[in-house]
Amino acid sequence: MSAVDRSEVRAAVAHRGAREFTLETVALRDPGPRDVVVSIDATAFCYSDWIALRGDSGLPELDPDPYPVVLGHSAVGTVVEAGRDARHRAGDRVLITATPECGECFWCRAGRIDQCEQLFVPPPVIGRLADGREVRAPGAAATYAELTVLRDIQVFPLLPEGEGLADAHLAMFGCGIVSGMGAVVNVGEVIPGSSVVVVGCGQEGLWMVQAARMLGAATIVAVDPIASRRALALRIGATHAVDPGEVAPRDAVLDATHGRGADTGFDAGGTLESVGQAFACTRLGGTVVVTSYVRRDSEVALPLFDLALRGRDVRSSQSGRLDMRRDQQRFLPWLASGAVDADAMLGTVRPLERIDDALTASRTRTELTPVLVP
Ligand SMILES: [Zn+2]
Ligand SMILES: [Zn+2]
Repeated sequence: MSAVDRSEVRAAVAHRGAREFTLETVALRDPGPRDVVVSIDATAFCYSDWIALRGDSGLPELDPDPYPVVLGHSAVGTVVEAGRDARHRAGDRVLITATPECGECFWCRAGRIDQCEQLFVPPPVIGRLADGREVRAPGAAATYAELTVLRDIQVFPLLPEGEGLADAHLAMFGCGIVSGMGAVVNVGEVIPGSSVVVVGCGQEGLWMVQAARMLGAATIVAVDPIASRRALALRIGATHAVDPGEVAPRDAVLDATHGRGADTGFDAGGTLESVGQAFACTRLGGTVVVTSYVRRDSEVALPLFDLALRGRDVRSSQSGRLDMRRDQQRFLPWLASGAVDADAMLGTVRPLERIDDALTASRTRTELTPVLVP
């Protein structure tokens, strides 16, 4: 029944302790009844993969040792084979994301797809290396490969609104775009005329800046230590940019907001410090949106007086509380019309063979979103 050869698939494999990827041939397993095989057209390189590759994420899902692994969780591609009961059919253009939507669990039914009980499962086996060892996929997507096999619940048909868009732009949808723009639209619920601070202007933070501008925020303060990222933030919608090494972010935000603090504060810095800064920069009665997890066992201390008596709400934003169908409808027209600048978010588009250059660019923060074309 298989129309495609799954026996020799080029993939970027990460071995335990390795500081780089190796291009190897993987024999993909047969798809199960609810699995699909997807030919990857383009996949975004994500900094969280570097964390996974370093092996210090503290995620119990990665214990015992899952290596060797194929990483990658945000991609555009085409279904080439579908299990008997899968939601998709061969030929479907699809987006892949890390967060599944089973549609049947308590959380999916409650409209909280971001917490679907199929999230954070132990890494599934996707196939075998030439020497017979099993290869697993933390993130359950394994998009750093020519072909991948995954659950149909992490695969979403591309809506017609996205048909004309470049693969490199669509590759960013399942991670940077839904996480960043979703945090602003779905979680922070920014309103016209309001004030916003974004702490950390990597890909997620800069998508937040763009979404805040789209929703009509009047004051958008971008905080980042890297000058080029502050400059880009100003170009794509920030009204103020702050180097936290020079000015305390809270002082800068108070200056920009009549001494009150921002209506909504977004943490996108990936550090404990960025969480604290987003909280400190947000006004009494405002909303703080947290995206940094740092490590599974990390904890933050926040002033209890402000939490209990000063009305600062703290909201969690796992992948921007995504709903891939709804969010495609909202965000793809913004991309298609050029209302949000997707090119500004792109790093270099490289063949999969050059994934180590993407890793370096991500690790050294010289590119926002490197994209790989298998
Ligand atoms: Zn990601
Ligand atoms: Zn579910």
